Amino acid sequence: MQEISEKSAGIILFREEGNKKLFLLLHYPSGHWDFVKGRIEKGEDEMQAAIRETREETGIIDINFIEGFKEKIHYTYVHDNKIIKKEVVFFLGITYSSQVIISDEHIDHIWLEYESAYTKTTYQNAKNLLQKCRSLVYTS
Ligand code: ATP
Repeated sequence: MQEISEKSAGIILFREEGNKKLFLLLHYPSGHWDFVKGRIEKGEDEMQAAIRETREETGIIDINFIEGFKEKIHYTYVHDNKIIKKEVVFFLGITYSSQVIISDEHIDHIWLEYESAYTKTTYQNAKNLLQKCRSLVYTS
């Protein structure tokens, strides 16, 4: 089977509500819950792609990146008889927007506190990202 490499970028996006920190998750059509992310297009760097995808997939444009967080995950899946080897780079960002307008690329969205977000995210690599950003989120 043919192997293809793909690269996406995304943001673990959170906001504050009172003293709570709420993380944004999207419900993907293939069934999983994950952070906002998407393919890096020609001419874009990782951060530009993450910002554009966040705008397209959630309508959110105010993002302040938390310095010191940049994590990559890797996974492989089969699509159209091709093996897709995918790398996704994630940044961490805070927003002051609570309103989310999802695109037709997703089914739903939800803002959840850490423990619930950890439970809701489908894949272990996404849960690991939450663990990795936890201390930065709670000190920011
Ligand atoms: P993008 O949002 O980068 O444009 P996409 O929506 O085309 O991507 P993915 O979200 O990468 O596609 O999903 C493609 C396949 O990979 C699906 O079968 C999905 O279940 C699986 N998948 C998605 N995220 C992960 C992950 N973090 N770990 C393992 N498998 C995943």
